[in-house]
This record gives sequence, C-alpha cells and structure tokens, in this order.
Amino acid sequence: MDNYDLIIAGSGFAGSTCAAVLANKGKKVLVLEKRSHIGGNAYDCKDEHGILIHKYGPHIFHTDSKRVYNFLSKYTEWNDYSHQVLAKAADLEFPVPFNLNSLYRVYEKNKAEELEEKLISSYGKENKISIAKLRESADKDIRELAEFVYEKVFLYYTMKQWGKRPEEIDPQTTARVPVFISRDNRYFQDKYQGMPKDGYTSIFEKMLCHKNITVKTSIDAKQLICFTDNKIYCNGKEFFGKVIYTGALDELFNYEFGALPYRTLDFEFENHPVTLFQSHATVNYTVDMPYTRITEFKHLTGQKHEGCTSTVKEYSRGYIHNSSDIPYYAIINEENNTLYQKYASKASEFDNLFLLGRLAEYKYYNMDKIILLALELCDKLLGR
Ligand SMILES: Cc1cc2nc3c(=O)[nH]c(=O)nc-3n(C[C@H](O)[C@H](O)[C@H](O)COP(=O)(O)OP(=O)(O)OC[C@H]3O[C@@H](n4cnc5c(N)ncnc54)[C@H](O)[C@@H]3O)c2cc1C
Repeated sequence: MDNYDLIIAGSGFAGSTCAAVLANKGKKVLVLEKRSHIGGNAYDCKDEHGILIHKYGPHIFHTDSKRVYNFLSKYTEWNDYSHQVLAKAADLEFPVPFNLNSLYRVYEKNKAEELEEKLISSYGKENKISIAKLRESADKDIRELAEFVYEKVFLYYTMKQWGKRPEEIDPQTTARVPVFISRDNRYFQDKYQGMPKDGYTSIFEKMLCHKNITVKTSIDAKQLICFTDNKIYCNGKEFFGKVIYTGALDELFNYEFGALPYRTLDFEFENHPVTLFQSHATVNYTVDMPYTRITEFKHLTGQKHEGCTSTVKEYSRGYIHNSSDIPYYAIINEENNTLYQKYASKASEFDNLFLLGRLAEYKYYNMDKIILLALELCDKLLGR
C-alpha cells in the first residue's frame, strides 16, 4: 500500500471524480468499492430485456455549473433531455411543479384564466412562488389554490416519502413548495440538462480507466483501513497518504455513538410488452397508491427498443440498520445532525482523512453538487 498517494473508499460520483482528477495529476490512487460494481447509486445497466435501467432509481443530470458540465463532458456526449413529471392525484393529472399549464388541467377554463391573471399581476411571470407566500395572499382564490397544491401535490406524497403524519411535516419544507408562474413544464430549469449518451456506468468506466488508478470492487474499505490513535493504518501498517472516505460515517466508526437514521427505497422493476408504458418519464402518485412514483427508463435514455419497455416503482420506508437495506436519504433534523457531528468531530482527529459525499456528509446532494465538491476537494489537495 506504500505506493499509493491516496485511498478512496467508494466509487460513486464523489470517489470517482476525485480519483480521475488526482490520477491525471500524477497521484497513485487505490479505489475500494464494497459493491460488486463501480458507479455508486448512479450505476446503470441493461436488464434481462435489453433495456437500460438505473438500478438504484432514476438519475437525471442537470446543473447550472459550467465547471461540472465541462468536466463530465470529457467522459460523455449528451442526449438532449429535459425532465418532465406528471402528477396523478386520483382522477386528476397535471404537470409538476404546479404551473400555469397545471391550472388549466385542474380548473375549468374561466376559473383557470382568472387565476392565471391574478397570479401574474401579483407575482409576475416566470417566478416560482412558495405555498407559504401564496397562503399570505389577500385574495381568497389564491389562498385556495395554495391549499389545493399543498394537499394534492405535497402533503400525501411527502407522507409516503418520509413516513410521517401530516402534523409532523415540517412547515419550513412546506414553505418551499413552489407554484411556477410559467408555461414551462420542465422539472428543472438548470442551464445544462441532458442524459449521458452511453449511460452513467460508461462515464465511471472512463473516469477510472487510468494507469494511476487501481480499482477493487466487492471490498469494504474497513477490511483494509483501520483508524486508531489519530492514525490511519492500512493492512496493519501506518498509511501516510490521504484517505477520501465517501461511505457512511457511523459505519466507519462502528456505530459507537449510535446509528444514523435514513430512509431507504424498495424498487419494483417491471417490464411491459408495449413500446411505451406512460406519457411522461416520471409519474408521481401524489394522493394514493403505496408507491411514490413510476419512472419509465426509455423516456430518460432515449433508447429505441420496439418490443417492450421497463419501469420502476419506488416505495419509501425506514432504513433498517444492520440489514441489507441501502441508506438512500439522510433524515436531516436537529437530533440527527447532532449525532452526525459527533462522528464528524471524531473524523477530524485524523489529519489525512477527508469526508466527501452524500453518506459521509449525511446530506442530500444531487450529482452535480457532489461532483463540484469533489473538484473543490481536489483543488485543495493539489494546493490550487
Ligand atoms: C433514488 C435516487 C434518485 C436520485 N436521482 C437523482 C437525480 O435525478 N439527479 C441527481 O443529480 N441526483 C440524484 N440522486 C442523487 C445521487 O444519487 C447522488 O448525488 C450521488 O449518488 C452521490 O454520489 P456519492 O458518491 O456521494 O454517493 P454514492 O453514489 O452512494 O456512492 C458511494 C459509494 O461508496 C460505496 N461505499 C460505501 N461505504 C463503503 C466502504 N466502507 N468501502 C467501500 N465502498 C463503500 C457505496 O457502495 C457506493 O458505491 C438520486 C439519489 C437517489 C437515492
């Protein structure tokens, strides 16, 4: 192990970005990945029917960061793609985020026109206005619209996602749910949007294919690395290089302060003998059904495959510690942040340990954000 400058635990976007950048600068890097494949949660592969699927849930790339877009574009060409989501609220169907087109799908024409005029004159066009703000409106119709969106788009969906009762739902989060005063049906408004032409796994393969990078899969970093007395040991010998750790911090320190809570997802993949199964890439079931959403991969990837199509249903539930569950979403609240800080403080005792990623930082990050943070960490490590 003496010949490595860095050991990176995890080969998702956090670990792979660091490995690619640092190897290009002449650093010798060992990447350890506990799954049998690289790519973390962005991993994609063909299913038994030949359809490209996202094994850990649908991943759509979007960013406002030119740096991130340029970096990833070294490893992929892009298919034009702008994500659109349809909400199904019992017998109603409308685009989300709720926008001016949604108004016309929900209300009869005269009422929708009236509401559109009121929204535009009160808040201006192309603005996203939070439910909290709409609720403060002096106009009764606008307040009613806010209640409609809260209930039909947000409330039950959030209960399914986070396993909460309505009264437990944080008013701060509600406040952020927007109504978009626009005809723009795109789910994201970022400057750069698209899907990688050959999928995500191909990006990871290219990132990690470098003479300075060794990748070992199906190995938990903890089997090799040990943290004691402010020192990092690798295979029993003190390791003087740097360690970038992108896994869960409670796991790294053997849960000594207790387990960090997460939400997990059960994915139900289905294949259908039709060319396309639904009108939109993603349909959110906002008031009924036990699953939160159904995504159809061919819409995302643009794959042409006449005979059939594959979809995934997502069921959200509490993560069971010490099981085969995958921790997907940190449950961010004061109590959990305090617990996380205990681990972070312990980690800070190791000068050559760097924490990066959605697990190691106990946060939700989109792919672009984690790539940006990885690039910034590399700047720091390279003294730039
Ligand atoms: C259902 C879902 C949908 C998402 N959709 C989008 C989207 O549409 N757009 C978007 O931008 N973002 C999306 N994200 C977020 C995206 O998945 C994350 O931004 C990204 O995965 C973060 O990369 P990461 O490297 O931090 O973590 P991960 O991708 O989780 O990678 C961490 C890797 O570390 C490995 N590991 C952990 N512990 C160890 C250990 N001890 N030893 C060795 N290896 C270890 C894990 O096996 C994993 O492969 C979504 C997330 C989820 C859960």
